[in-house]
This record gives sequence, structure tokens and C-alpha cells, in this order.
Amino acid sequence: MARKLATIQRVVRLEPIVDADAIEMLQVLGWELVSKKGEFMPGQFCVYCEIDSMLPICPEFEFLRKSCYRKLADGFEGFRIKTARLRGQLSQGIAFPLSILPENISIEEGMDVTELLGIVKYEPPIPACLEGVQKGGFPAFVPATDETRIQVLQPVLTQFKGTVCYYTEKLDGSSMTSFVRDLEFGVAGRGLEFFESESNSLWRVARQLKLEEKLRSLNMNIAYQAEIIGEGIQGNKYKLKGQTAYCFNLFNVDKYEYFAYKDLVEITTSLDIPMVPILSDNFVLVDDIPTLVTMAKRKSMLNPLVDAEGIVIRPLEIVKVGRSEFDFAGNRLSFKSINPLFLLNERD
Ligand code: AMP
Ligand code: MN
Repeated sequence: MARKLATIQRVVRLEPIVDADAIEMLQVLGWELVSKKGEFMPGQFCVYCEIDSMLPICPEFEFLRKSCYRKLADGFEGFRIKTARLRGQLSQGIAFPLSILPENISIEEGMDVTELLGIVKYEPPIPACLEGVQKGGFPAFVPATDETRIQVLQPVLTQFKGTVCYYTEKLDGSSMTSFVRDLEFGVAGRGLEFFESESNSLWRVARQLKLEEKLRSLNMNIAYQAEIIGEGIQGNKYKLKGQTAYCFNLFNVDKYEYFAYKDLVEITTSLDIPMVPILSDNFVLVDDIPTLVTMAKRKSMLNPLVDAEGIVIRPLEIVKVGRSEFDFAGNRLSFKSINPLFLLNERD
């Protein structure tokens, strides 16, 4: 299921911004954003587009051209919505009046209008070192990696408040999946599986970490998922020499099930597989979004001089969540809280 980037939402509250006459702050879901003063009233419906929405080129969005125009690797041209700060007020996402929607459609709170508006998710370009000769699509026997943002999850947070969770540092690199299945060892990136080659960093790091031997030693069909970071990847924020990968998922392919925290730690420790930095393993989930955002404002464990991208929070035990209005990778409860300070410094 494609991520819901644009939905019909109510304006929760409006607040003036100090020293700003033309703009005001509004809250939609758990997000704060800036809009033109007087455009909305509290309680009114709007079309809310999350950060990382790529809005298509059309007259309603032309005012964004100067600051937001991007062309993606696949040729898609549009306007990228990113985190901004205006007059000191953080602004995440953008709200439009319902008039941008085609006439005669019936409106419902929470309704997904992403496709209707032709909006797609902005994905950073994949550097050449993470490309190669394609062996296949993304392996079908393991869910692709993804994390839902806490800001859209208020009802879910309230439902699971009190659950004991662990959280790890979210690293900003590129997603890597490696597996042993029916005796075959394979390596995939964010979207494709590749043949082994010297020039492909995913394979090079897999070899460097001896993943094939390690995964085979478990004598089962298993997938490993990690963030590959380092030179040539996402600007190498952590200023590392070379490249490496930090594991955040192990997945039992035959059971089609993630390993819970305890097993994840036990296996990665015993096989000496680096894991993403574990920041807590006894966090009692709260449902206050600002608190969860504050927890994400921290420096990286990999380099104390740089802002961490954020944190990923998960229950210690796997909590299955069926397909619902919220989409979770692999239908298991897990979400990200992104450090707004990190997003402000983001490059393209
Ligand atoms: P995003 O990077 O915003 O698309 O968020 C989801 C991605 O974060 C996943 O697909 C992973 O590649 C990546 N990621 C980085 N660090 C972690 C972590 N500690 N736990 C889970 N996912 C992570
Ligand atoms: Mn990422």
C-alpha cells in the first residue's frame, strides 16, 4: 500500500506567530505548520500534505516552484514539501483549502487523496554505488523496510500507551536487505535485488560483515535488514571512513514474522552483527506527540557532533496490526519520530 501523503483533516488549532502579521501557526494531526493568516478556521477541513510529499506540477501549486521544484531520478517533476522554519516557527507539511479537490467528491475526515491529487513520495536519489545489475525485484518473502511517522498515529499511540518499548537511533543512509532462503544468499537495496559485484556497496558491505556465513550458520530461511551508511551515501553525515551497515530487523522467512527485541539482540550479538544504536529497552510508551518529538532531538551515537535523524520506537514483543487506515511495514507496530533539527538541515 502506498503511504498516505495527502489526507482530509481538521484544523485542530490556530495560533499567532510572534512578529508575523501575514502568517499563523496551525496544528493538523500531530503536526505544526505555517499558513497564510485567515486561510483556515479551527475545526475546518483542509487537505493536509505531509513532508516528503511531491506535489505534481499544476497551477494551484506553482507558488511553490521557487523553493520546492525538484526532478526525481525517475523523471517525475514536482514540488517537494520539506520541513521549514518561518519566523522561528517550525513548519511541517502544507495545508490547502478543499477547493483544490475536484468538484463533486464527497469529503470524509481522514480520507486519502494522495492519488487523486497525483502526489508521490519524495525519495532521495540512490547513489551509483548502491545500484548494479538487477537480479530481480524486491524479495517477495520479506516486507520492504518502512516506518510510519508518529504525527499521524495519535489514536494508535493512545491505544498502545503503557506498552513497554525499545527505541533505537534512526540512521540516515539507505535501506539494505540480505537473506538466506532455500540455500540461496541474496542482497537487495531499497527496491531491487542485485547480482554480486565489486562496485556495488551493498554486496561489498555484506561481504565485509561476513553476512553470508553468519546467516547460513543459523540454518534457517532468514532475512537481515539494515541501514547502509558511510562515504558516498546521503552525504555521509556521520563522517565515516568507508561504508558499513547497522541492522534493525531480522525476519523469519518461513514464519513470515519479525524476531522480537530479545531474539534480535541475542542473534546479532552472538553473530557479531552490528545493530543500530539501542537507546532504551524499557521505555513505557506515552501518547503525547510533543514528548516523543523531544526524545528525537539528540545527537548521533555514531558522531556526537551531528544531529541524529531521530528514533524508531517498537514494543519489546511484536504487536501485530492488521491492515487498517494506518499502514505499518509487515503489519507490525513500529514508528519513527524524526528530529526536526535534523530535517531543517536536510539536503536534497
Ligand atoms: P525513512 O528513512 O524516513 O524512509 O524511514 C524509514 C527507513 O528508516 C527504513 O526503511 C530504514 O531504511 C531506515 N532506518 C534507519 N535507521 C533505522 C532504525 N533504527 N530502525 C528502523 N529503520 C531504520
Ligand atoms: Mn531514510
